[in-house]
Amino acid sequence: MIFDSHAHYNDEAFSDDLEDILAEFPDAGIGSVVNVADTLESIDRVLELSRRYPFFYAALGIHPGECENLTEEALETVRARLHEPKVVAVGEIGLDYHWDTPEREIQQRWFRAQIRLAQDERKPIIIHSRDAAQDTLQIMREMHAERTGGVLHCYSYSLEMAREFIRLGFYIGVGGVVTFRNARKLKEVVEHIPIEKIVLETDCPYMAPTPHRGERNTSLNLPCVVQAIAELKRMDPEGVIRITEDNARQLYYLK
Ligand SMILES: [Zn+2]
Repeated sequence: MIFDSHAHYNDEAFSDDLEDILAEFPDAGIGSVVNVADTLESIDRVLELSRRYPFFYAALGIHPGECENLTEEALETVRARLHEPKVVAVGEIGLDYHWDTPEREIQQRWFRAQIRLAQDERKPIIIHSRDAAQDTLQIMREMHAERTGGVLHCYSYSLEMAREFIRLGFYIGVGGVVTFRNARKLKEVVEHIPIEKIVLETDCPYMAPTPHRGERNTSLNLPCVVQAIAELKRMDPEGVIRITEDNARQLYYLK
């Protein structure tokens, strides 16, 4: 069944009809979803969802754009929550030089601190990295990120960089963008890296695939992403679903 490795069902975009969407999961073949926190405030909701629904897991971390006022004390709150049974990763953490706020030094400090946290707690990491490929890779190397492994979520860099991340034991998160006609770079990455290194993701409510581009995204749209990957890899959609599910279970230490 389809494993959605990165979603935000805690988002208020789902506050009115979450139950209706989830009711369609079995028929649509959606088997598991990791909801990813991005702020301190989102952590409780992400945990609550993981307690309420058997197919929901949780990842806890502070997004680079949200770490301006982060403190060591707040990070200890995150650490305590990581011990809940369905928490499978630290994330999303990383560097965002596209929005470029807060300043880079602050982003880098908390990226390092959260990699250390993940290593202490033996959890893989979910990395958000935008327009910051070199610094991301450099900090990962310096921090020995290969100790926990993890995923480069919503991957947007080159094939050469993808090979570097894979060499560190990381997976490449692929979502709606791969269906866009102008996504030449990502299509090239998907075509040339092993299918064993790809995980499916929605990043919902964002990143809806063609033909739903611009709409609110849900895991129910993942078959469009599967189809695009299947075409690029010249595989059956069923094979893409089976292997990427297996990959996500490896990634999150679920096997
Ligand atoms: Zn996300």
